[in-house]
Amino acid sequence: MSSHIVVTDELFFNEVRKYITDEQSLDMIRRAHDFAREKHEGQFRKSGDPYFSHALNVGYILATIQAGPQTISAGLLHDVMEDCGVPYEQIAELFDEDVANLVEGVTKIGNIQFKDEKEYLAANHRKIFIAMAKDIRVILIKLVDRLHNMRTLAFHTPEKQKKIASETLQVYAPIAHRLGLAEIKNELEDLSFMYLQPEKYREIAGLVEAKKAERQQIVDEMIEEIRQLLQEHNFHFRIFGRCKHLYSIYNKMVTKNKRFDEILDLYAIRIVTETELNCYEILGYIHAQYRPVNGRLKDYIAMPKMNMYQSLHTTILDKRGYIFEVQIRTEEMDDIAERGVAAHWSYKEGKYNSASEQKEIENKLGWFHDMITMMDEASLEHPTDFMNQIQKDIFEANVYVMTPKGRVIELPNGSTPIDFAYRVHTDVGHSMVGATVNGALVPINTKLKTGDVVNIRTSKQSTGPSEDWLKIARTATARSKIKAFLQKKENEDRAEVIAKGEKMLTEEVRKRGLDEKEYLDKSRYEGLYGQLGVNNYPELMYAIGIKSSSAAHVLDKVSNIRRPTLVDNDTLTSMFREREKKKKRIVAEGGVVVEGIDSMKVALAGCCMPVYGDPIVGYITKGFGVKVHRADCPNIINETSRLIDVQWDDSLDEHTYECWLRLDAVDRNFLISDIVTLLSQYKITITGLNSEVLPDKVNSYVEIRIKVKDNVQLQNVIDNMRKIDSIVSVSRIVK
Ligand code: MN
Repeated sequence: MSSHIVVTDELFFNEVRKYITDEQSLDMIRRAHDFAREKHEGQFRKSGDPYFSHALNVGYILATIQAGPQTISAGLLHDVMEDCGVPYEQIAELFDEDVANLVEGVTKIGNIQFKDEKEYLAANHRKIFIAMAKDIRVILIKLVDRLHNMRTLAFHTPEKQKKIASETLQVYAPIAHRLGLAEIKNELEDLSFMYLQPEKYREIAGLVEAKKAERQQIVDEMIEEIRQLLQEHNFHFRIFGRCKHLYSIYNKMVTKNKRFDEILDLYAIRIVTETELNCYEILGYIHAQYRPVNGRLKDYIAMPKMNMYQSLHTTILDKRGYIFEVQIRTEEMDDIAERGVAAHWSYKEGKYNSASEQKEIENKLGWFHDMITMMDEASLEHPTDFMNQIQKDIFEANVYVMTPKGRVIELPNGSTPIDFAYRVHTDVGHSMVGATVNGALVPINTKLKTGDVVNIRTSKQSTGPSEDWLKIARTATARSKIKAFLQKKENEDRAEVIAKGEKMLTEEVRKRGLDEKEYLDKSRYEGLYGQLGVNNYPELMYAIGIKSSSAAHVLDKVSNIRRPTLVDNDTLTSMFREREKKKKRIVAEGGVVVEGIDSMKVALAGCCMPVYGDPIVGYITKGFGVKVHRADCPNIINETSRLIDVQWDDSLDEHTYECWLRLDAVDRNFLISDIVTLLSQYKITITGLNSEVLPDKVNSYVEIRIKVKDNVQLQNVIDNMRKIDSIVSVSRIVK
C-alpha cells in the first residue's frame, strides 16, 4: 500500500482479481467503477486531478486490504450521493441495498463536523462516529477515504492541513487501531505528524534515514543466523526485519522521555510460520540460542489483544550485544495484524448475512468495552444480557442528531425536537414554533433517530412553551427550562393580578371615604387571613384581583373587631418537642450531633474533612471545642482519652461538605477539562485545584477540592473519575 504509485484502472482491477474471482462480483465492481467515473465527470480535486481519481484510489486501497465486493463498490461510489446528487434508490436499484446503505452511511458521517466543538472531546468524537456509522464497513470506507485525503493534503492551506491532521490523529487513527488496521493507522499517524509538527517530523525522518544502512546490516546478519537455525529444524517460515513508523518513534521519545538513539536501540524482526505449535517451537529454539531479556515475553496467542491481534513477542540479545524484538505468528495471525477487521471479510461477503457477520466481528473485537463507561453490576453476572446491554447502550441509549450545519447533538433515546431545541439554546426552545426532520415538517413530539438532521423553526411571535411540552420533553434540561419559563410567566401574571387587587381595594376605600392610611395598612388585615383562606397580604390582594373575594366584603370584615388567633393543642405539643430536641442535641455547622454536650463548639476537622455519612469520631480540643474527624484520620488514630462519640444529624439536608481528592494520571491534553466536565455533570462545585506535571514529564497529579452532599455521592464521583482515560488512581487525601 504505497502512497507513491499512480493508481490506474488496470492496477485497480488487477488488485481486485487477486482475490475476487466470481463473475457476478467482478461485474458489480466494474459497473460501480464506470458509474462513479461518469458521475464525477467534469469535477476536479484541489490537486487538479479528475475527481474520479479519488474514488478510484479509495477503491484500490480497499482492494489492497482485500475488502469485499460490496465494500469496494461502495468505496468507488462513496462520494456520488453528496457530490453528484445521486439518490439512495438509484444506487439500490443499480447495485443493491447493501451498497446503497454503505454509501449513505459514509455520506452521513461525512457530514459530521468535529471542528471547533469544544464541548465534545476526542473520545466522544470517536463514540459518535462509531455509533453513527452502525456498520463497520462504513467506518472502513471512511478511514480509507480519510487516508487518501491525507495523502493529498498538500493542496490545502496550512490552517486546514493542521485542522484535518489533528482530527485524523485524534479521531481516525485511534479507530483504525481499534479495528486492527495497523498499516492504515501508522500511515494516518505519520501523515498527521508531518503536518502538525513539520520540524520534528523532518528531524526524526532524517535521523532514521542516516542510520538506515547501518541498521539494515545489523538486522540482515541476525536474520541470516536465525534462518539457518530454523532451517536446521525443518520449519517452513518467512523472516524479515521491520521499521518503526516515525510517529511511534516520536511518541516513545515523548512518553518514555528517551533519546532517539535509545529508542532505535531496538531492532525488530518478524517470523511468520505455519501453525500455532510452530510458533511456540520456534520461540523455544530462539530462547535456547539467544539470551531473552527478562519480562519481555508476551503471549498474545493465548491472550489476544482487544483488536484480535495475536502473536508471540520476545526480546533477545545477540552475541554482539544488540537487542532484538522478535514477533512470531502464523500467516493467519499476520493477516489479521496487518489488515485487522478487513481480514474477516475476505471472500465471505455476500455469502453470509452481513448483519449477523458484523455482529459476530463486533463481539470478537470487544471494542465496546472501553467505549462504554457505565457498566451495570447486575448485568456483569449474566454475560448474554451484558452483550445485549452494551449493544443497547451504544445504539439505543443515545441518539446523535445534527443541526443543518452538521453540528452533532447527543441526546438520550426518545428525545424530541423540543429537547433538541433546548440543547441548541434556551432561546431557541422558548421561541420554537415547529421543526423539520430531514427536510420534512414533523409534529414536535416526533422521536428523533441517529443521523436525523433537525431544523428548528422559531418565531418572535411565539408565546413560549406550554404545559403540554413537559409531557413531550425527554431531557431534564429541557424540562427544567420549560418549568422555569412557565413559573416565571405565572409569577408575572400573578404580580399583575396582585396589583389589580390592590387597585380595587384602594378604590373601595376611597369610595367609602375611609382613612387611606389606616385602611391600606397591611397589618390591619392580618386577622382576616385565616377566615379568607390566605396566608399573607399578597395572597389576599390576589384573591381580590381574581375576584374570589370582593374588596367590599374584605372591608366589611376588617371593620369588625379582630379576634386573636388561637394556637391549638397539637401545635403547642410539637413546639414543645422541638424545644426539647434542641436542648439535647448540639448541631454544628456540619450537621454533627454530640449528645449531652451543649456548651461546646463542634466543627469539622480541616485535615481529613469528613463528609456526611463517613464514620466519624469527635476529638475534644483544648479550648477549641469538639473537632470531628474521620474515624481513620491519621491525626487522631493513636488518641484514646480525648475522643467522644459523635453522630451525623439525619434531619439536616441541603448541606454540602468540602473534601480534597488526589488524582494521579498519565498527563495528556484535556485531562483537566475531562475532570471538570465530569464534575459539572454531577453539578459539583470545585473550590480548589492544584495540578502539576511531574519531572518525568509523563505523569501528573491533580488535587481538587470539591463540595459534595454526602459520601455516597462522593464515592460515585470517585468511581467515575477512575474511568476517565489515563487516570491511574483517585483517592481522598488528608491535608
Ligand atoms: Mn471522499
